[in-house]
Amino acid sequence: MDVIVAGDRAELAEARRALGIGGTPPAEASLALVPTMGALHEGHRSLMRLARERAEHVAVSIFVNPLQFGPNEDFSRYPRTFDADLEVCAAEGVSMVFAPSVEKMYLPDRQVGVSAGEMGTVVEGAFRPGHLDGMLTVVLKLFNLVRPDVAVFGQKDAQQLAMVRRMVADLDLPISIVGGPTVREADGMALSSRNRYLSPEDRGAALALSRALFAGAAQRTPEEIRRAACAVLAAEPAVAVDYLVLVNPATFAEVREDHTGEAILAVAARVGSTRLIDNVTITL
Ligand code: AMP
Repeated sequence: MDVIVAGDRAELAEARRALGIGGTPPAEASLALVPTMGALHEGHRSLMRLARERAEHVAVSIFVNPLQFGPNEDFSRYPRTFDADLEVCAAEGVSMVFAPSVEKMYLPDRQVGVSAGEMGTVVEGAFRPGHLDGMLTVVLKLFNLVRPDVAVFGQKDAQQLAMVRRMVADLDLPISIVGGPTVREADGMALSSRNRYLSPEDRGAALALSRALFAGAAQRTPEEIRRAACAVLAAEPAVAVDYLVLVNPATFAEVREDHTGEAILAVAARVGSTRLIDNVTITL
């Protein structure tokens, strides 16, 4: 079956009708959404496969959301590879692609958005003010437009996943959230649409991020974990660290020395002009 491409609300409603989604039960077909900013890679593909296991139809949204980029960030140069993305979606058995323009997505006099609350001001939120508010606002809009039963997000953006789960709980959204594991290159580097910005030298230096996380994950206590990861990053002068934190997966608050259960070791760093994030989950 061909992928149906929708660019606005009317086309989206038509695509839902054509696929039999939202019909009268028991004829109703289920739908899983994978929100993306495009430049699709194997990480996105793994989420599409998870989505296929969860619902009869998969929708992929491709939208580079201006609201979640700061004034000095890479919104205008973010990679846009729509034709290749469509081929990826077709190969993964995706039923519909929602790819609106910014103008179709946001009213020019837009006023209301989602606040990520205090949790949106820590870790990634401390370095990218407004990023998590902008991300949640577009995710809520995508949920309302596409109206999926399930939405799949990558653990790669761990705070995003935690905040989406929080939004679903706090706002009683009728949707299940599924998290997918981070897909990595053979050498450990997490796949990211931003990796294509890296020169070969930058890429070599950027490997320090995953090496630091794995070094941390091999330790036993929070102090040892932070120290081991920090030492790897400190040995790579081309990597400018924004943060290295060990946090509670649900709240993103720093864990104490006596913490037990899962914790997320998360790192953000700039390599050349590229900012990268990565994380691993560690059970303490
Ligand atoms: P993006 O297009 O970067 O906004 O990412 C869209 C979705 O893909 C998000 O839920 C990301 O967490 C997820 N994602 C990005 N990179 C990876 C990866 N290497 N492995 C698994 N999921 C990923």
